[in-house]
Amino acid sequence: MQFQEIIGQDQAVAMIKSAVLRKHLAHAYLFSGPEGVGKRMAALALAQFINCRQIDSQTMESCGACPSCLKNINADHPDLIRVEPSGNSIKIEQIRQLNAKVALRAYEGAYKVIIIDNAHLMTAEAANSLLKTLEEPAENTVFILVTANVQQLPVTILSRCQQIVFQPLAINAVSEVLQRQYPQYDSRIRLAASLAGGSVKRAQELLTNETLLSQRNQLYQLLAHLTEQSVGDILFWCEQFDKDRPAVKNLLELAQMWYRDLLLLAAGGDQSLLVNHDHLALMGRTPYAIAVLSPIIQNLQRAIEQLETNAAPRLVLEIALIKIKRTLQGNIAMI
Ligand SMILES: [Zn+2]
Repeated sequence: MQFQEIIGQDQAVAMIKSAVLRKHLAHAYLFSGPEGVGKRMAALALAQFINCRQIDSQTMESCGACPSCLKNINADHPDLIRVEPSGNSIKIEQIRQLNAKVALRAYEGAYKVIIIDNAHLMTAEAANSLLKTLEEPAENTVFILVTANVQQLPVTILSRCQQIVFQPLAINAVSEVLQRQYPQYDSRIRLAASLAGGSVKRAQELLTNETLLSQRNQLYQLLAHLTEQSVGDILFWCEQFDKDRPAVKNLLELAQMWYRDLLLLAAGGDQSLLVNHDHLALMGRTPYAIAVLSPIIQNLQRAIEQLETNAAPRLVLEIALIKIKRTLQGNIAMI
């Protein structure tokens, strides 16, 4: 793994590289940030970088070809140790075994690198045991703790690590990653990236989730014909999502994107910026003025927020859709 493969984390990568190049490598790092933004890739890239025998002085990347790089690429480098939860937690036995390995010298690399994945899942005993090792750093050993839940780590561990924060990715960065991995899903990629909240992992799930795609098609058919639907029809359609909070959240976000796209069209914006460009013909059926669309988008935002407070999912969806219908028909003003 090379740093150049990590997309959209320029600041974090620059901090890591600069520490190595200035020979200010910390004894322990904590890579924190949402799931699916490149933390593990960066940990692997750092492991490969610090043991590479021929750093490319132009690109400042590991060479990818020396014996050490090849072993890292093939995940069989004897000086790279990875610890992951066994079941739901990282147990004290795992950390004891790790400590024993850390006590030995590096086999062939200059550095021994330990990556602890989902570090927040260490049991209290495991964290305590690791803490002792972190307090007495072995020479040429680098710990990289990776977590999406930094607040669940004990302060004692946090204080021993240099934290590198990975930000949620921009939509374009998520799209770029997906485009490389799933060129066959081209038309859906921007949608998945837009819904993913900056996480490639979430975007991958959305991209390949056929249920979500089918729900999306149903929703957009409904929205395109909303003024012709009876309230009874709308309530009937919503029934299937009773208590399904994640599905309702996705639907409300999708509806928001639908009206955002209509807003873009109403404003004469660039069609290449449409999230739902695969539904352009359907969207063209319902041109509305900006003054009508803006409050609908705000209303959907409030519905999404209500959902996060414990409101009944189906009810939130029903009310949101009926309010949109009434607004479009000009019967009531938006509340
Ligand atoms: Zn190399």
